[in-house]
Formats: sequence, structure tokens, C-alpha cells
Amino acid sequence: MRLIPKNSYCRWRALAVASWTFQEAADPSRITERFLQALWHHQRLRRDHLRTLDGEPLRVLHPGFWNREAGPDFRNAVLKFGPAAPRQGDVEIDLHPRFWKGHRHDQNPAYRNVILHIVWEGELPKPAVLPTLALKPYLDAPLSELGAWLDQNSLHRIPLDVFGKCAAPLRDLPVAECEELLKQAAQVRLEAKAAQLQARAQQAGWEQSLWESLFGALGYKHNVWPMRILAELLPSLVPDKDRSPPSPSVWQARLLGLGGLLPGQLTGTQPHIDAYLRRLWDIWWREREPYSEVILPRVTWRFNGLRPANHPQRRLALAAHWLASGDLAARLERWFAETLADEKLSESLVEVLQVKHDDLWSWHWTLRSRRNSQPQPLIGPPRVTDLAINAILPWFWIRAVAGKNTDLQARAEHRYFAWPRSEDNAVLRLARARLFGGQKVRWIKTAAAQQGLLQIVRDFCDHSNALCDQCQFPELVRELRGEVE
Ligand code: SF4
Repeated sequence: MRLIPKNSYCRWRALAVASWTFQEAADPSRITERFLQALWHHQRLRRDHLRTLDGEPLRVLHPGFWNREAGPDFRNAVLKFGPAAPRQGDVEIDLHPRFWKGHRHDQNPAYRNVILHIVWEGELPKPAVLPTLALKPYLDAPLSELGAWLDQNSLHRIPLDVFGKCAAPLRDLPVAECEELLKQAAQVRLEAKAAQLQARAQQAGWEQSLWESLFGALGYKHNVWPMRILAELLPSLVPDKDRSPPSPSVWQARLLGLGGLLPGQLTGTQPHIDAYLRRLWDIWWREREPYSEVILPRVTWRFNGLRPANHPQRRLALAAHWLASGDLAARLERWFAETLADEKLSESLVEVLQVKHDDLWSWHWTLRSRRNSQPQPLIGPPRVTDLAINAILPWFWIRAVAGKNTDLQARAEHRYFAWPRSEDNAVLRLARARLFGGQKVRWIKTAAAQQGLLQIVRDFCDHSNALCDQCQFPELVRELRGEVE
């Protein structure tokens, strides 16, 4: 028996890709609405430059939530047109401005809350009915690259509640081959994250792309967008060279103030928290004026179902310490340059990212919670793993690739594949159930194996349905079984 051939997974993807929609987008004459929806959902746009067809600058504070039902394509977006206050409403996506009337959206009450019509290209109809944004001039990468990238990052979710058709052939595949298969899929995922970081670095620089990615990962599932938007504002907050660097309190005031997360009311019952809020307001009152246009409305954040440890106020308090230190990127560089045993990877990065002490946040989970009896760390190994896998290692990897440094590229890959597994979640549980038919898969011990599993879901499950119709994965696994015997 031998291990599965190198690049098997890439070959399989190439086969599957031939049947996907977004690849068609590489041909501009075949742009689809679904492609435009995915572009908007992932904001693969030069976001600093957006203007509607009538020339109004547009800031996207939240792209809204993808609506799979009838009605507008995105619900509850938060958008800012020119100097006006941010507006919350729906977004409809069509290929051309004339489809607003052509599809009779103008007569449909379900579209009454649409505040932005997104199109691929075209002229504004006269008289103009709605602010309209044409996406074509604002792509953040060439169309062919975006087509491939979106294919592997499509977030379409389908109801998956039965064992997949691939469960039987995968059961017959020896564990070593399954591990290799997930490893190859994880490599695809690493490269996709890295491509996004590189696209952003080309617009904003390497360090800024790292900050945006770190903030996004701190937003966890629910608050990725507002966190990224705050990170995009960081360059405008960097102090004059001749002024002393801002303290953690100043950064906390700025981040919470800009995020619209600084409570206007004192608790009245917790003097420690009230003193903290007064201190932050003293700072923010003095600084806020130039930023009044860009303060995020509270509706851009989601608080439901959040663990206290993931509350955005707490995450921003942590990021404030990183910014105040002024040397986070340098510390990460040193960490990456260090020779580390695999079992020390997570622990050593926790040390780099941990904050020694915060007068308030070490003692309170949130601004409403009681004081803990023991101080609590501002970040723990599970979130550090997310940051490593989704932001830090892809960033080092793509910089090494861009600099043609094969040693550093190999180092980034080694750490990525050796990193211990992260917390379980519903998507992973479902993927294990479908692909491995309820078997115990104790051999999934690394974060990369989990990433590989997620990539198979993206590449195959997301393009099929609950019955696995037309999924090529089971057949490919069967062929592989023949190849390795
Ligand atoms: S859709 Fe394909 S990859 Fe997903 S569970 Fe079904 S057979 Fe397996």
C-alpha cells in the first residue's frame, strides 16, 4: 500500500470546478447574479473607493445578511451614503439597473426597504429610483482569480441531516489516506485565505492586511464585519510621530467609541466599571469630533448567542493593548523566526498575544458582569488557534511566497499542519457525521485536518444537496481506493 498521490485533492477540485457557477464568471459575458451576491457577501471590493452611479461616496458598515428566501438578496445592511447618517435597510442585486423595473421590484412591497440596488454595470435610469452601485469597477482582484476564490469560499448552506454518499467509500479508505486527503484539502484552504490577505495587502500594505485579518478573526462568527471595518479605520488613528504613543485606555476609548460600543449610561451599581467608563468618555469626548462621520451604529453588531468571552467590547479591549504596545507585528515576526517544538506552538503564541493585566477586563467578562473572584486572561488557546489558522500563518505563508523564500514558506506550512485542533463547532460536527457516517474519527487531531474537512464541505457539499445529488466526491474516493491498493 502507498499513500495517495500528491495533489489528488487539487485534481478533484479541478474536476468539480468545471461544473461550478463562479468559474463561469471568468468570462465577463457570463456574470451571474449569484456571483455578484457572493462578491457582495465577501466584500471582495475596493471598499475605500465605492461610489454610487450618481457619484455619491458609499461606505459599507455591514453588507447585510444573505437572504435565501423570496425578497431582497440581503437584509439589514448598514450603509452610509456621502455625509448622511448611516441607514439600515435591504440590498437587491441584479445584473443591470433596468432590472429593478424589469423584475417589478418597484411594485413589490417586499422590496420597500431596499436602500441600495447593486448591479454589475450600466447607466442610471432617468429618473433615478434608488442609489445604485455598479460592482465592475471595484473588484479587488482580476475576475478569473475572484471566480476561483469564491468557488472555494461559497457560504451556501444546505440542510445536511443524513449520512453522505461518500461515507461508505471513505470508510474503506485507510486512516493514513484519509489524513493525507484532509491535508491536501487543508492546503487549498490555506492558499485561499492567503490569497485574500495578499489582495488586501496590495491595496493597504502587509501590516494593515494583518490587522484587518486579526480583527476579523476576533469578531468570531457574528461580528467579523464591524471588526474589520474598525481595523480599516486604524491608519486614520495612528498618532503624530512627535506625540507620545497612546496608552491602552486611549485605544480602548477610540475603538469602543468608533464602534459605537461605549455605553452612554453609567451602571450606578458598580463603581469600578463607572470609573472606567468616565475615564474612557473623558478621552473620547476630546477625540470624537473628526470621526463623527465614521462611528459605527450599534445595529452593525450582533450580541445574541455570544459567550461573554467573545463580546466585542472585550475583544476590542484586547486589541487596544496590542495597538498600544506598538510592536505586535515585530513580536509575531520574532515568534515566527524562533525554533519551536510542535507541542509549544500554541502556548508560545498565547504568550505573544496575551495581555499581562487590564485593570477592568481582567476582572470583568463584560461591562455588565460582576467582578470575578479571580483575574481571567483576555485571550485563551481556542481563540489563539483561530487567529493562527485564519490570520497569522496564512499571512506569514503568503509573504514568504511573495518573497520567494521557500524556507519560510515551509516553516509556515509546518506550523499550520502541526497546530493542535481547535474547538469543535456545529459545521465540523455535521461534516464528520456526513462524511464519516457517525464513525469515531479520533485521528482528526490537528486544526489543519479540521480545515480540510471544512474545505471538502465548501468544495463538494455546498455544491450539492442533502441527497448528495451529482456530487463527484464519492466516486473520486472510490477511484482513489483503487489507486492506493
Ligand atoms: S455532498 Fe458529496 S462530499 Fe458532501 S456528504 Fe454528500 S457525497 Fe459527501
